Amino acid sequence: MTNKYTYFVANWKMFGDLRTLNSLDKVIKFSKTNKKNKFRIIYCPPSTLIRPLSKRLKKTKIEVGAQNCHHSYDFGANTGQVNSRMLKSVGAKYVILGHSENRQLGEDDKLINLKIKSALKAGLKIIFCIGETLREKRNKKTNQVLAKQIKNGLSSINNKSNIVIAYEPVWSIGSGLIPKSEDLKKSISFIKSKFGKKSLKILYGGSVNGNNVDKLKIITGIDGFLVGGASQDSKKFIDIIKKTIN
Ligand code: PEP
Repeated sequence: MTNKYTYFVANWKMFGDLRTLNSLDKVIKFSKTNKKNKFRIIYCPPSTLIRPLSKRLKKTKIEVGAQNCHHSYDFGANTGQVNSRMLKSVGAKYVILGHSENRQLGEDDKLINLKIKSALKAGLKIIFCIGETLREKRNKKTNQVLAKQIKNGLSSINNKSNIVIAYEPVWSIGSGLIPKSEDLKKSISFIKSKFGKKSLKILYGGSVNGNNVDKLKIITGIDGFLVGGASQDSKKFIDIIKKTIN
């Protein structure tokens, strides 16, 4: 861990209802008793929980983010969609964009670029997900894929200070598999080289848990984790944080 703060982003995906929020009391207590620690916890629940969660977290240092947004900054006739301004207005500070589960549904780099621009305009910070599929990895295309996702996803965005990169190999998400340390090191340093800026924050995401985090946290250049499955269980999430910061 190299940067000032270590980030722990919880991606709840399409899980959770109002009752689920009670389970966060443990995490709130944990974050309050660890005031001096330099870590940041960001919960990204489904959009329906952003408002109640931000209310609940008001007196804590835990922040709230969204999992996606529509690309239009303006309100409009887009049934079922939610835009960046709406998310901001209910308490979101961050938004995850480019997640592979949404790329698989057809989001391409161009659309993701529009979403990033709209979210930045609304004053949200971006957790920008990139990563290769298993086939791309096997074909030794990882760097090529990462370079393309970065170039197109961040096209004509000059100020990247509100963008955090989440490197999430697609084959690692929800599979229990993580990259070999050597491969991960190479990918992280490749991503860094594309920015040439020391303050860029890079998170790793993909099957992070209490058993593998010791291996992951020592990789140079990783500033935190984007955690899916394990973040839905407060005990498991706290375990990941404790093992990382201790
Ligand atoms: C994710 O969905 O961003 C993720 C990292 O999921 P998991 O931790 O379950 O692999």
